[in-house]
Amino acid sequence: MEKSYSWQDNQWRQIISRAKLGSLPHSLLLTGLPGLGKFDFAVELANSLFCEQPDEEGHSCGQCRICLLLKAGTHPDFHIVSPEEKSKVIKIDQIRDFCNVMAHKSQLGGYRVAILSPAESMNTSAANALLKTLEEPGERTLIMLVSSQPGYLPATIRSRCQKVDFGLPDYNTSKNWLEKQGVTGDIKLLLNLSLKTPLTALATFNDGHLQERAAFINEFLGLKQGLQNPLQLADKWNKLQPERCLAWMMSWIMDLIRLKSDDNTSHMINNDMKQHLQPIARQLDLLNLFSFQDKLQVANRQLTTQVNGQLLLEDLFITWIKIR
Ligand SMILES: [Zn+2]
Repeated sequence: MEKSYSWQDNQWRQIISRAKLGSLPHSLLLTGLPGLGKFDFAVELANSLFCEQPDEEGHSCGQCRICLLLKAGTHPDFHIVSPEEKSKVIKIDQIRDFCNVMAHKSQLGGYRVAILSPAESMNTSAANALLKTLEEPGERTLIMLVSSQPGYLPATIRSRCQKVDFGLPDYNTSKNWLEKQGVTGDIKLLLNLSLKTPLTALATFNDGHLQERAAFINEFLGLKQGLQNPLQLADKWNKLQPERCLAWMMSWIMDLIRLKSDDNTSHMINNDMKQHLQPIARQLDLLNLFSFQDKLQVANRQLTTQVNGQLLLEDLFITWIKIR
């Protein structure tokens, strides 16, 4: 990982200058789309606050005694709270344990830093259990909540944190960064498919998602032609990546909606798939496409909970076959 990403320069400078003045808030809420490196930013900020000899820009040295402790994951005053393996939620017991730790003093006598990510995965009782610690975190303490969907956090939590928002980098910033990571080919398409976020675009490139996507559009359109069985397809895609599958569907429906109102294909997300999408757009009703898009968005939210992905995809595929 880089120390911090070029599109985070403003946020980094602002926070570091406040830290130097000793006016850092006790709790931050880092928000922005997934794929912008918010979590990495939080980790580097923690490293910077702990490091014995940070550089002029405030970045950690990576070599001092404390940086080595952090690298080994054994710094006693640095805490990361995330859903445990195979769980999608941060449980109340995890928050209680965390609050107990925070009720005690720093072990090494310096800062105490915690990252809760993704913060919206706390359920209501876990969030309530966190309130008191957020209100009185103690001296030289920084609690960072990382969230791509801060709207799902209780207002009581949001109001106790200072918000740091991460916006989308411009195209050239993303393109330059992706090229430095060795990404080749149609970078514009990669970014379009990744909500324009560079880290997601990199993952899309590295994981061969484009090949999967090419296979999936044929299967998805094949559903409507009676060439695919929705139950079998749901089983197949649920085993791969239901989130990704849903993101693709949303982008195709968005393009179909665009094509209904404008024949100009230059604004399409999936510009490489216009030959597949144009004929379908002519057959389908605009209102039906909108209501299917709504359904996809609800499903997207449900996927972050303990929903049955197989049933969810089956339902979506069957609806897709039926819409006219
Ligand atoms: Zn250091």
